[in-house]
Amino acid sequence: MTFKYDDAVAKRARMMAERVSFAKNNDLYFYNQPISELLGGSKVLVNGREMGMYASYSYMGLIGHPRINEAAQKAVAKYGTGTHGVRSLAGSLDLHLELEERIADFKHAEACVTYTSGYVTNLTIVSTMVGRGDWVISDKLNHASIVDGCYMSGAKFVRFNHNDMAHLEKRLQQAGDATKLVIADSVFSMDGDIIDLPAVAGLCKKYNAWLMIDEAHSVGVLGATGRGIEEHFDMPNDTIDIKMGTLSKTIPSVGGYVAANKELIDFFRHASRAYIFSAALPPAQAAAANEAFKVILDEPWRLEKLHKNSDQFINGLKDRGFDTMLTETAIVPVLCGTDEKAYAMTQKSQAKDVFVLPVVSPAVPDGLARLRATITANHETEDIEYAMDVIGDAGKELGVVS
Ligand SMILES: *Cc1c(COP(=O)(O)O)cnc(C)c1O
Repeated sequence: MTFKYDDAVAKRARMMAERVSFAKNNDLYFYNQPISELLGGSKVLVNGREMGMYASYSYMGLIGHPRINEAAQKAVAKYGTGTHGVRSLAGSLDLHLELEERIADFKHAEACVTYTSGYVTNLTIVSTMVGRGDWVISDKLNHASIVDGCYMSGAKFVRFNHNDMAHLEKRLQQAGDATKLVIADSVFSMDGDIIDLPAVAGLCKKYNAWLMIDEAHSVGVLGATGRGIEEHFDMPNDTIDIKMGTLSKTIPSVGGYVAANKELIDFFRHASRAYIFSAALPPAQAAAANEAFKVILDEPWRLEKLHKNSDQFINGLKDRGFDTMLTETAIVPVLCGTDEKAYAMTQKSQAKDVFVLPVVSPAVPDGLARLRATITANHETEDIEYAMDVIGDAGKELGVVS
């Protein structure tokens, strides 16, 4: 493999290429497989094969929803496919304002601002809020976009042990009188467990710290109407100062948002660099997201079915002897142990048309490699039984369960 310069860049690229080709040569490469068609329900066409999808973030099964597709098509007819630039200059459409009002209403917040991805939202919000001399305090299992935002901000970046409230309190005390921002995922993306919001919020109040929660995996999943973690814990609407979320998971579009009080949103609109220096959401995606929030409220059966399906899946895997860790949500880790076992479990499941993916170190600690399966409102009872039988048989063959 030759590069223009034989330097550190070439070395990094070569090391990665070696890992990828090792995986490919050993039939252990599961990434970047293209889906060529939606087949209805939870089925998709992958490499010409009909597979049950157990790795999707479309928790309510809204990808392909007729109302949402139609909203996107109408937006293209009316506005075209692009915008005239960044939001603060010529890029704003009435569609964006409608979407932001809709999200603010859905999240029971005063106002909202959107960005073109959830990743970028976390980068720009954390680095707009805090900087040198301030403290940002983050759960150890937070998403990479939060971690990157913390580094980018230049604030003092410290972590607390996962969901460990005594440790968080120690961190808050260490920060003393400095300006403090506490951040956590609502539902953790590798484990499926839920942050102890009542305790975190109590500590933030006690130590005058801002609280930001990333709801990527809780919107459309938690709460009686799918509004998220405050509704789940039956807490007041102003418990979280900065309610961040993505438009790319339950909401079948792309983009990110934060909902908060008017003063903060106004600040973000005029100071966050991703708003000022990156183009607006395209019309089709803004319209699709807007319609999706309506569909969630109009079709409450989706949330009920998601809960029923998650219960069936989590309990069925436990009955088959698997350790699903502390999940209470639609993200279901199936502990395998070594990376090799997780790869072999994936191989055997995919060979029987169950599309699951592995998570291995360094994404998770050594020895805690797993399948990270997800469940949606689109799965049917008998499909879930089939998937669990396939995973169960693989587990027995490989000695993951007895
Ligand atoms: C997916 C995800 C993001 C990033 O959202 P995108 O819209 O895909 O960029 C941020 N935070 C968490 C917890 C996520 O799971």
